[in-house]
Amino acid sequence: MRGWSSASIRARLTAWYATVLFLMMAIYASVTFLAVRHEFYEQLEDHPRAAGGELYTEAHVQEQLREVLIVLVLGLPLVVALAAAGGYMLAGRALAPVETSFNQLRRFTADASHELRTPLSVIRGIGEVGLRETRTPAEYKEAIGSMLEEVDRLTSLVDALLRLSHADAGNVVLSTERLDLGQLARDVAASLGVLADERSQRFALDLAAGVSVSADRLVLREAVTNIIDNAIKHSPRGSSIQVDVRTDGSHALLTVTDEGHGVPVEYRDRIFDRFFRIDEGRSRDHGGTGLGLAIAKWAVEANGGRLSVDGGPRGGSAFRIALPVKGDQV
Ligand code: ADP
Repeated sequence: MRGWSSASIRARLTAWYATVLFLMMAIYASVTFLAVRHEFYEQLEDHPRAAGGELYTEAHVQEQLREVLIVLVLGLPLVVALAAAGGYMLAGRALAPVETSFNQLRRFTADASHELRTPLSVIRGIGEVGLRETRTPAEYKEAIGSMLEEVDRLTSLVDALLRLSHADAGNVVLSTERLDLGQLARDVAASLGVLADERSQRFALDLAAGVSVSADRLVLREAVTNIIDNAIKHSPRGSSIQVDVRTDGSHALLTVTDEGHGVPVEYRDRIFDRFFRIDEGRSRDHGGTGLGLAIAKWAVEANGGRLSVDGGPRGGSAFRIALPVKGDQV
C-alpha cells in the first residue's frame, strides 16, 4: 500500500500525460518541420528570386529553417511544461474525491481492526487467566460466560460491518411497499419493550393514524430499532421515552425523544459517522458497536428520507426520521 497515496497517483498521472504529450508534440513538430522544409526548397526551385528582386539562395532557406527549428525546439518543452503544470492542477482536483474516499477507507479499516481486536484481547485474557491455575467449576462457568459475551459482541460487530459493506457496495435490493409508519413504530416499541422494562423505562407513544410511507419494511424497521434501542441505552432508569409519528403535509415524521444525557451540539453531525461515540467507555458498557446510527442513517436515506438529531425538551435527545409522503422526495 505504501506509495499508493493520492500525491504519488497525481505525480504519476502528470508524468504519463507529459510524456505522451511530449511524444505527440515531437512527432507533430518533426512533421511540421519536414513539411516547411519541403515547401521552402520547392519555392527555391520554382521562384529563386524574392519579391524585392534579391536572389533567394539555399543559404537563405537554411537560415530560415534554422529559425523555425529553434522555435520548435525551444517551444516544445515550454508547451509541455505548461501543459504538465495545468495537468498537475487538474489531476489534483480530479483526485480530491478519490483521496477523500481513500482516507475514509483507511480510517474505517483502522477503526474496524481496533474494534475487532478489543473483544479478541479480552477473550484471550480471560482464557489465559483461567488456565493459569486450577479453578472451581463455578469459576470456569463464569469465565466461559464472559467469553461468550465477548463472542456476542464480536458477532454483532461483524454483522454490522457486513451490513455496511453490502450497503456501500449497493448490494441491498429494497423491496418497497406502502406501510403505516405508526404501526411500524408500535411494533418496534413492542419488541424492545423487554429491554425498556429491564431499565424500568416506559414508552409514551403518540402515533397519528394513517401516516403511510413507501419504504422497505425491514430496512426502515432496522433504523427505528437502532434509534429506540439507543434511547433505552442512553437514558436513565425509570425515565420515559416518547415516540411520535405525525405528518407535516409532505413529510412523515417519526421522532424518538428521550430524557438522557443528550447529544451536545458539536457532536450532532459526527454522531452518524462510523465508530463515532461520544463516550467510548459508556458505549462499550452498553455493548454498543458504534455502528448503529451509521446503519440507521443509511437505512433512512436508502428509503429516500433523512435522519437528524436535536435536543429534547427535557435535556435528552430527539432523533427524527423524515420520509417523503406519497413518493415525494425530502
Ligand atoms: P453505539 O453502539 O455506541 O450506541 P451508535 O452509532 O448507535 O453506536 O451511536 C453512536 C454514539 O451516539 C453513541 O456511542 C452515543 O455516544 C451517541 N448516542 C446515540 N444515541 C444517543 C442518545 N439517544 N442519547 C445520547 N447519545 C446518543
